[in-house]
Amino acid sequence: MAGAGETIHWADKIAEELLERGEKHRIATGITPSGHIHLGNLREMLTADAVRRAVEDRGGKAEIVYIADTFDPLRKRYPFLPEEYEKYIGMPLSEIPCPCGEHESYAEHFLQPFLESLEILGIDVEVKRADRMYKAGEYEEAIKTALKKKEQIREILEEVTGKKCEKDWSPFMPLCESCGRLNSTKVVDFDEKGVYYICECGNEGKVSYRGGGKLGWRVDWPARWGILGITCEPMGKDHAAAGGSYDTGKRIAREVFGIEPPYPIVYEWIHLKGVGAMKSSKGIVVPVREMVEVLPPEIVRYIIIRSKPERHIDFDPASLLELIDEFEEAYARGDRSVQLSMVENVKYSDVPFRHLVVVGQIANWDVERAVEIVRRTGYRVDEETLPDIKRRLEYARRWIEKFAPDRLKFEVLSVEDVKEKVQFSDEEIEFLRKFARKLGEVGMARADELHNLVYEVASEIGIKPAKAFRAIYKAILGKTYGPRAGYFMESLGVDWVKDRFERIVS
Ligand SMILES: [Zn+2]
Ligand SMILES: [Zn+2]
Repeated sequence: MAGAGETIHWADKIAEELLERGEKHRIATGITPSGHIHLGNLREMLTADAVRRAVEDRGGKAEIVYIADTFDPLRKRYPFLPEEYEKYIGMPLSEIPCPCGEHESYAEHFLQPFLESLEILGIDVEVKRADRMYKAGEYEEAIKTALKKKEQIREILEEVTGKKCEKDWSPFMPLCESCGRLNSTKVVDFDEKGVYYICECGNEGKVSYRGGGKLGWRVDWPARWGILGITCEPMGKDHAAAGGSYDTGKRIAREVFGIEPPYPIVYEWIHLKGVGAMKSSKGIVVPVREMVEVLPPEIVRYIIIRSKPERHIDFDPASLLELIDEFEEAYARGDRSVQLSMVENVKYSDVPFRHLVVVGQIANWDVERAVEIVRRTGYRVDEETLPDIKRRLEYARRWIEKFAPDRLKFEVLSVEDVKEKVQFSDEEIEFLRKFARKLGEVGMARADELHNLVYEVASEIGIKPAKAFRAIYKAILGKTYGPRAGYFMESLGVDWVKDRFERIVS
């Protein structure tokens, strides 16, 4: 919780404002499953979840409803879709076959992995699929109201957006029974049983209020606020712009459906900096499902929760370790963003993730060996901390394998490999020999002492320190760079380093 002088966390501030309006809240989120759901989309979910937790921490009740817009039409053939998908443009996502053949529909293909990610991230949601809501008749009354008050809605839309609606505009999009499209039909008339329409394909007919079509977005949104009892909703800034769908939705909610619009939380976009790291080889942004395989859930949550929703996030995967350092410092001081980011009852150990990345590579990801190094390098390893050390060690491994920049990757070579692959100058050999001898004299040493010893020995034999460091990396990794040398040698163990250098020079 915020102490004296500290500013209140954004989620707590919103929670306080919500609780002034009422004790119980339904927070809506909505993402169209038309493609892979990525980090940017996750801001909506995590903004909602941080507020939900903050409301509950204050004794209120809150739940999140995730409305998957499965009844939205496919807008275009995305680059990741085969050519045959051209024919599905305009059809609802729930009615299009899944691209891999293993899911019930196109919508489910993208929805399933996203729902799994939400579970891993500890975001508990009530899932509503728009197509099922329509088919079950949940929208029936709203559609009838919208059709009856069509002119009133048209006036609101034109007034707020400053743009004229088409002459034959209707709030309802019938689903053509012949060609299966939503974007090619026009409403002709309606009665208590259904809606009469004509379609560009030449078909005409009558559809029911239960699954025979859907409301256009600007009317669908306020309608669902009423249907689902929504009191709060995060939204991207495009929806919140002047004349945008929240502006029209607010008025349609009050004037047409007679309900209060939800408390809006407007959020900014997330930009992924640079290429590489978090993007796949084809430059496609990594889906959330893959991201949660590689990063601990508390870190994914923290990336978003630490920034106010209205602040733009530039996420640079290349500086992920710096971000994790920041998380760990914030954890140690009981920071509110960290509290709102933790998932389950993890007892966090104080071993930095950065250290686990090095230790894991030294141990070649052998867990027992890695844990032994963690213990030897001065961290608490016991029943309480061990599960978390092992948990994050596994994430460190996946991160190194899949996304880490090359400069952070290394492999400890065998003596034979080094001797076979690496050429040492006379100066380098002299340095390694003398350094090994000094190590024998000092015995145990800390990172800073080892670091200073490099300078000392380099100076004694008259070579530049840079050359000395290169000799060390070459003798261990077979390349000219690596983790900070003093720290690296401490992690490897002084005896190991001494033995290694002796065998290289013999
Ligand atoms: Zn599939
Ligand atoms: Zn048609």
